[in-house]
Amino acid sequence: MKAPDFIYCRAESLADALRLKAEHGDQARWLAGGQSLLAALAFRLSEPTALIDISRIDALRGITFDAGVVRIGAGTTHTALGVSDIIRRHVPLLAEAVPLIAHAAIRNRGTIGGSLAFADPAAELPACCVALEATLIAVGPKGERRIAANAFFEGVYATALRDDELLTWIEIVAAQADEQQTLVELTRRSGDYAMAGVAAVLRGDAAEITHARLVFFALGDRPVAAAKAAALLVGKPLDEAQVALAATASAQEIDPAGDLNGGPEMKTHLAQVVLSRALRQIMTQAKAKAERTAA
Ligand SMILES: Cc1cc2nc3c(=O)[nH]c(=O)nc-3n(C[C@H](O)[C@H](O)[C@H](O)COP(=O)(O)OP(=O)(O)OC[C@H]3O[C@@H](n4cnc5c(N)ncnc54)[C@H](O)[C@@H]3O)c2cc1C
Repeated sequence: MKAPDFIYCRAESLADALRLKAEHGDQARWLAGGQSLLAALAFRLSEPTALIDISRIDALRGITFDAGVVRIGAGTTHTALGVSDIIRRHVPLLAEAVPLIAHAAIRNRGTIGGSLAFADPAAELPACCVALEATLIAVGPKGERRIAANAFFEGVYATALRDDELLTWIEIVAAQADEQQTLVELTRRSGDYAMAGVAAVLRGDAAEITHARLVFFALGDRPVAAAKAAALLVGKPLDEAQVALAATASAQEIDPAGDLNGGPEMKTHLAQVVLSRALRQIMTQAKAKAERTAA
């Protein structure tokens, strides 16, 4: 199939983007990397009358670190995220997630803003942002709006963004000294969307976990926080017994629909597998860190 006819216009600045949106109205869509939108057009899943290209807006690109907060432009590509020293040092979860997103050609064009706005429940970056308690910043005709990541995702391909709003920046508090972050997923082939995955952020030391956020992806209609499983970890040391308890508890917190990758039972089993692997990975990371500190 071919895409329906549409008007193409390129915004040179944020103000220009908002002006073009007001001009073309409800049926106009933002075009970032085009990696999801153009496929949707080709399959006629979406039939906008105008595409507003935001990929050349300099203000939407780049990564900065200031006063303990990492700020990422929505137009930053997956590749740029993956090679950023700021991201590697302060938000290692994102650096770990990037190589698991699709293939290099898609990562070179696809953007973090596009991934969050598209809100595919199997995508890595939405779950990372929820696990990291990120703040998503949108700009529209009425000004700027800050949206907590856990309130942003409303369902399959549905977000809290208003039709006339543009996602501009993502703010994430840098990892604390005692924080471990990791992401584990299962895919049929390298580069495929995940069958099941989890983003995990834990703080504490060998004696006691003081904070835990566990967020599943590809296991619901949006990123799903396993809050009860996370609460079980807090106040205790992380060991095999705790891993088993958390994995069992997490199964009660999800209700995955079956998909091409398997039925609900299999997906629930995979959730426990990815969570156990993530927590064991964190135990290994924490041990290595403690040994480095002691040496
Ligand atoms: C074969 C294939 C495999 C893939 N595998 C994965 C995978 O494993 N994991 C994964 O996470 N993703 C995967 N993707 C998706 C990829 O990461 C896309 O890059 C991403 O989902 C969309 O980013 P984009 O910049 O290309 O957005 P676009 O395709 O340009 O836009 C997507 C949607 O977001 C809206 N949008 C874009 N930017 C903004 C903004 N700043 N503000 C408001 N709305 C905006 C658009 O209007 C559109 O509705 C895959 C894609 C393909 C084609």
